[in-house]
Amino acid sequence: MSERSLLAAYVTLQRLLTQRLTLQREVETPPAELAALRARDAEREAALTANRKRRGELEAEYGALERETGALYEEREHVRRQKSQVTNMKQLQAVVSALDHVQGQIDERESKLKRIMEELDALDGQAAELTAESPQERQQRLHLEQLWAERRGDSEAELERVRARLREVQLELGAAAMEAFKKLWNLRKPLAVVPLDGDSCSACHAVLRAALLQLVRGGETLQYCETCRRLLYDPAQFPPP
Ligand SMILES: [Zn+2]
Repeated sequence: MSERSLLAAYVTLQRLLTQRLTLQREVETPPAELAALRARDAEREAALTANRKRRGELEAEYGALERETGALYEEREHVRRQKSQVTNMKQLQAVVSALDHVQGQIDERESKLKRIMEELDALDGQAAELTAESPQERQQRLHLEQLWAERRGDSEAELERVRARLREVQLELGAAAMEAFKKLWNLRKPLAVVPLDGDSCSACHAVLRAALLQLVRGGETLQYCETCRRLLYDPAQFPPP
């Protein structure tokens, strides 16, 4: 294989590898608008989970308080019965004081129960808002999902073609030439073979010596940028297919 053919094949490899990278990114990256919608859904889901967790905690607390309050109601009845049986002032004072105490405990729990009910109501309202996706939003999301699925399908098909073409070029090049390319690639990926930009290297922007520039423009030999060591080619000699 002549050095010119080798250079042409390396340029093709670089272009295919760049295409592959671009397509891989396309396949992996949904459009920003869709990503934002999905993120909003995920946020909603997280908020709903937190909402349900808090609801569970409050319901457990509510149940425990209800049981305590029920016991206190019974105690209050018991003290009231004692009150009707007192025989002197001292006993009456003791019973009244016990009644005040029980009533205080009941009041405390009842106000807690009320606060819990309020918070549960607020959580219900929040959950209703969180789950509400307007028909418009839903339509937009489904539309974007569909567009994205189509575009991703196209990219995947194109990616398959690029991969097949890469295998072909690798076979054409043979093991030794591929080995040389891999060394260069591993040093300078994802851009190892770069076009001239006027009289400069388009990757590192170094201005090339006149003699080197002439050789690159000739396109008959492998020439490397003296600054970044990338393989150089003249885009006029090797235009994209
Ligand atoms: Zn360079």
